[in-house]
Amino acid sequence: MTTDHAPASNFLRNIIDNDLKTGRYQNRRWAPPPSAAEARQAGELDTACIRTRFPPEPNGYLHIGHAKSICLNFGLAHDYDGVCHLRFDDTNPEKEEDEYVQAIADMVRWLGFDWVSHGTEHRYFASNYFETLYRFAEALVQAGHAYVDEQSADEMRATRGTLTQAGTNSRWRDRPAAESLALLRDMRAGKYPDGSMALRARIDMASPNINLRDPVLYRIRHAPHHRTGNAWCIYPMYAWAHPVEDALEGITHSICTLEFEDQRPFYDWILQKLVELGQLAEPLPHQYEFARLNLSYVVTSKRKLRQLVEEGHVAGWDDPRLPTLAGLRRRGYTPGAIRLFCERLGVSKADSRIDYSVLEQALRDDLDPVAPRAVAVLDPIKLVLTNFPEGYTEPCSAASNPHTPEGPKRQFPLTRELWIERDDFREEPPKKYFRLYPGNLVRLKYAYVVRCTDCVKNAAGEITEVHAEYLPDTRSGTPGADSVKVKGAITWVSAAHAIPAQVRLYDRLFSVPHPDAGDNNFLDALNPNSFRVVQAWLEPGTRATPGARWQFERLGYFVADRETSSTEHPVLNRTATLRDTWA
Ligand code: ATP
Ligand code: MG
Repeated sequence: MTTDHAPASNFLRNIIDNDLKTGRYQNRRWAPPPSAAEARQAGELDTACIRTRFPPEPNGYLHIGHAKSICLNFGLAHDYDGVCHLRFDDTNPEKEEDEYVQAIADMVRWLGFDWVSHGTEHRYFASNYFETLYRFAEALVQAGHAYVDEQSADEMRATRGTLTQAGTNSRWRDRPAAESLALLRDMRAGKYPDGSMALRARIDMASPNINLRDPVLYRIRHAPHHRTGNAWCIYPMYAWAHPVEDALEGITHSICTLEFEDQRPFYDWILQKLVELGQLAEPLPHQYEFARLNLSYVVTSKRKLRQLVEEGHVAGWDDPRLPTLAGLRRRGYTPGAIRLFCERLGVSKADSRIDYSVLEQALRDDLDPVAPRAVAVLDPIKLVLTNFPEGYTEPCSAASNPHTPEGPKRQFPLTRELWIERDDFREEPPKKYFRLYPGNLVRLKYAYVVRCTDCVKNAAGEITEVHAEYLPDTRSGTPGADSVKVKGAITWVSAAHAIPAQVRLYDRLFSVPHPDAGDNNFLDALNPNSFRVVQAWLEPGTRATPGARWQFERLGYFVADRETSSTEHPVLNRTATLRDTWA
């Protein structure tokens, strides 16, 4: 699952090392979530040294940014003999669906991680804690730490103040606790319409941190939820639900992205109050922030990805051009390549943009030692060896992977008529062109040196066939191989034996590196030429079973499409070229 060498240190590892040294979480107890104070204290000593969590909202498909968080949270848990919870943060009824729950779980497993530890599943749903959250809310109201505010959303916004100006207290702020409690119960009972009132924490409307100016805990939303149906018409806000979810699951290190840094004081405030009220047991989880991944030439926001899918700019959530994990898998990315990429990113608190080429290089480095080699011709033109006997087939072979020359071999025949790349012939060669042109000598890889003689054109003047003569004593691997010096070698497949295939060539989805920078409408930057299909020829023996991968010599890494390919009708996706063509 993880790499075999010691992971690079980072600020989170330093924090965990220190917490373990000081025993901060040592005598912590564990009870299945949701475990409020009593259940927790009655639990067994927690055998997990640390607990982290990956908390996606099931409102879309995971993307490469989520992979960074998954590798980080599951990776830390693995390395420190802890447990990482997969928690569906499903507190927003409108946008969440079971389809996403399934897709997210699939992708976490595909990446090579697991939420089962010592036979226990640690897959949780925030919606399972709705009752506990509500009970805690009542306790906060009774203690004077929360109140029901009947200001409209607009009024609340207007009275919140600004970065330089304090907010003003709501006229409902000092209403008796009993009155707030009765209203809260009626809110829950469905007696009020959406937006008519909200439960707010009672902290400080003059706090320099706007997040502490009486943040909303509950809002009224008469909407069915994908798991709780119509049981609730009030739903907890993220800032309120998240710390409590962490505490109810016994999380020790709650790792999130930098945008939440300003929320940390509220995170600590709410948990502290619940400890004081006897609702939660110590030690409490602590929130840490790291820089999110921003990747060039793509967008990594579920909302924008959904827009691309729903408006038909791409073919679906698993379109191979998307940076969704489903898209990258379909494109041919391996879990190992994505983990390697995340490892290379490291973890820091400084925001940065990572170039897409870094992701591609991780794929090449992951696949190069293992991917079988083969030949494909993507833009075919016929090469006829005019002095090669008609009907004769000469067997040739090559290592399946050059890193293991003694390993398995691939076999393919040489015949009189071959497919080669159109670009491997020029009537008028430019400078430093070492491939076929009349009079030039070139090696057919794994076979003979040939001398190009001429070409055939159709009525429109287009080249339809290239002619050459082979030099009989020059076969690769024989003593005569070096008898003539050539500067170029080209790949080829026997026309009579090649397998026809549809090959899909992808380019970057956006034409600019930062399509959603500033006020840009990212749709304006869509690359109109991000997708092209060609009819290609594959080396005989290439079995395009869904998910099979190859390095096609000189061309790059390819995968047989997991949805549409079969050995009878191969459909291939180009995953990446051999060299960086993005610069
Ligand atoms: P999006 O804006 O794409 O919807 P999100 O943060 O709202 O992302 P969540 O489902 O809430 O999506 O994310 C689950 C976890 O993944 C969170 O802990 C979040 O911090 C992390 N995450 C999301 N995007 C990135 C990213 N680009 N880089 C690193 N971590 C990320
Ligand atoms: Mg989110």
